[in-house]
Amino acid sequence: TPRVFSGIQPSGGLTLGNYLGAMKRFVDMQGSGIETIYCVVDMHAITVWQDPQALQKQTRELTAGYLAAGLDPTKSILFNQSQVPEHAQLAWIFNCVARLGWMNRMTQFKDKAGKNAEKASLGLYAYPALMAADILVYHATQVPVGEDQKQHVELTRDIAAKFNHDYGTEFFPMTDPVIEGAATRVMSLRDGSKKMSKSDPSDASRINMTDDADAIAKKIRKAKTDPEPLPSETAGLAERPEARNLVNIYAALSEQSVDAVMADVGGKPFSEFKPMLADLAVAKLAPISTEMARYMEDPAEIDRILADGAGRARKIASPILKKTYEIVGMVGA
Ligand code: ATP
Ligand code: MG
Repeated sequence: TPRVFSGIQPSGGLTLGNYLGAMKRFVDMQGSGIETIYCVVDMHAITVWQDPQALQKQTRELTAGYLAAGLDPTKSILFNQSQVPEHAQLAWIFNCVARLGWMNRMTQFKDKAGKNAEKASLGLYAYPALMAADILVYHATQVPVGEDQKQHVELTRDIAAKFNHDYGTEFFPMTDPVIEGAATRVMSLRDGSKKMSKSDPSDASRINMTDDADAIAKKIRKAKTDPEPLPSETAGLAERPEARNLVNIYAALSEQSVDAVMADVGGKPFSEFKPMLADLAVAKLAPISTEMARYMEDPAEIDRILADGAGRARKIASPILKKTYEIVGMVGA
């Protein structure tokens, strides 16, 4: 059976971008004759500073988000990364396989480190090698992600190929990113050239899964757009990133193609389209945030689900790490 792995960082609250670009698609892949493994990647989150108490809360909230979005812990394996030490162990091996030149090309590091890269953590730089280990410690071949993670999944292939080549083996499989749907790159509501992110300092830039109906309506009403009405056809969105973003969000939330949405809303002014989008977003997100809050009332149950998932994940990861150690020549593996 093909194996799917993906993860989300507990580096803040879940956004609409995470939901449409990742989580909703994780749930859609579940149970269709494939094995699905989904992770709360807490070790990735600490590549930038996280207050310890906030990290705990965000880890539980993200888990509640997965469950509320429809992830079934009996159909998928759901756990937090730090409970499966094989990720970090394999990451060290991959740190020794990946080349500095490859890491230097990673755009996420450049974006997150900003101008003063000297002050960035070594972990932030090594992030993609840990991500490769997250995936390959399960021999996963499909990784549903948003567009922004494509480069890291490609690096995962490079690491697997170099490992296999250097050690004369075919042990690690080639992994494919799965980037599908209308919302593979949801943009900031304040800046059509930046992706929506949970770590963006501006709360107005994103819709949080926990925002109430008023907050969602207000953020959409204030979303930056140009003054023209929507074009009459999809092609007219090409040079209009903000308009395109809102139409893409509408398409993903309503599970329609962009063309189908444009057949309905093409030509409408934003004063008409934005309230439609706000109503749709509230209708789709409110039930999830209600469920999330319900799960959060029982943090012990969340912790139990994570521990159970971690146990099942280790059963897969442990023999793969052991075999890797043998291939590398570690005595006692
Ligand atoms: P951070 O700002 O801390 O990096 P993030 O919002 O980028 O947080 P991640 O945990 O880094 O979220 O990413 C989790 C998943 O969500 C990844 O698959 C990523 O590609 C996807 N994703 C993140 N932002 C978007 C977005 N704006 N549109 C679509 N997918 C997204
Ligand atoms: Mg990110």
